[in-house]
Amino acid sequence: MISEKMLELGRKSSAIREIFEYGRKRKAQIGEENVFDFSLGNPSVCPPAVVGETIKKIVDELDPTELHGYTSAPGDLATRSAVANYLAEKYGTDDTADNIYMTVGAAASLTISLKAVICDGDEVIVLAPFFPEYRVFAESAGAKLVVVPCREGDFQLDADALSKAVNKNTKAVILNSPNNPTGAVFSEASIKTLAKILSEKEAEFSHTIYIISDEPYRELVYGDVKVPYTANYYDDTISCYSFSKSLSLPGERIGYICVSKKCGDWKDIFFAVCGAGRALGFVCAPSLMQKIIPACLGKTSDIAVYDTNRRILYKELTDYGYECVKPDGAFYMFVKALEPDAAAFCEKAKKHELLLVPSDSFGAEGYVRISYCVTTEQIMRSLPAFKALAEDYGKI
Ligand code: PLP
Repeated sequence: MISEKMLELGRKSSAIREIFEYGRKRKAQIGEENVFDFSLGNPSVCPPAVVGETIKKIVDELDPTELHGYTSAPGDLATRSAVANYLAEKYGTDDTADNIYMTVGAAASLTISLKAVICDGDEVIVLAPFFPEYRVFAESAGAKLVVVPCREGDFQLDADALSKAVNKNTKAVILNSPNNPTGAVFSEASIKTLAKILSEKEAEFSHTIYIISDEPYRELVYGDVKVPYTANYYDDTISCYSFSKSLSLPGERIGYICVSKKCGDWKDIFFAVCGAGRALGFVCAPSLMQKIIPACLGKTSDIAVYDTNRRILYKELTDYGYECVKPDGAFYMFVKALEPDAAAFCEKAKKHELLLVPSDSFGAEGYVRISYCVTTEQIMRSLPAFKALAEDYGKI
């Protein structure tokens, strides 16, 4: 007898992974350049030079037993201090190493944070459209997932829908801005409204409601768009960060949790984070990656390519008759499918070798996600296929 739940999870891969795997096979059949794969959020630009330079430097200079040895369970002290100092300088926080926990990326930051705060009977609210793994993470921590849709026209907070959904069992709201899959950045007004609603509900139900702020795309914004730092708007915030996207290091698995010192009982929450990390086996994030972080804070990959892709896609797709909210951040575009059934639309897109992800697993119907973290050349080559697909639906 083994865990039925885990068996089921392992057997059925995510919709995103299924399309990606289909793409791998199709590329082998007809050639890489003939398949327009927009399925995965795998950064297509190189990490900034400082990443490679720092790896070389510390490999050459540090004692290998120190470099490759265990760090302390929550992470290397110098790295945690550097992260805290960076946050303090950038956002005016009072963070120190004592409230920073190094993790293997945002997935671990989220699973640890949820396990740290969830008790039996708790509910976790996600704002749809949302990253599908939130369901897996929240349910595995023992919570019931409650889906609250965002406003349709701009993917900002729907205050009424949120107010109605928060109840005495609500323990946390997961916020993701810039957002996967919409590319929307929650405005300051949205964050302030969210903070106000949750503060009032905390008072009404006499218990803490956390914002678990999932921020792997925090630096990936275009033009003069600003991403409000959630912890500066709401005291009971646990920030979950990852360097996967900002430094193009998704395979290296490095990120952190910051338990805001404005959380009433932040020391206990931090201990619970340490306990959850221990219980899940997420202690002592990869030492080499931790040690490059101080030199890389505040640096990002060159996101100009994503911006170019975003502009071209938005212009051409809207010209062909597709509808979409222009994304301000991350590297996703959420486009209305040209028929109500997004999965059926994606099947038709496949006939033009376009690999798009249907929106159902993101908790929204009738859209597709396009991951435009690909080469601009792929974007250009894919345009006739998008056009032909629009023609199939009589849009042109
Ligand atoms: N959260 C969001 C919104 C994501 O898009 C992703 C990855 O795509 C993750 C979390 C997981 O990130 P990581 O690779 O750092 O675990």
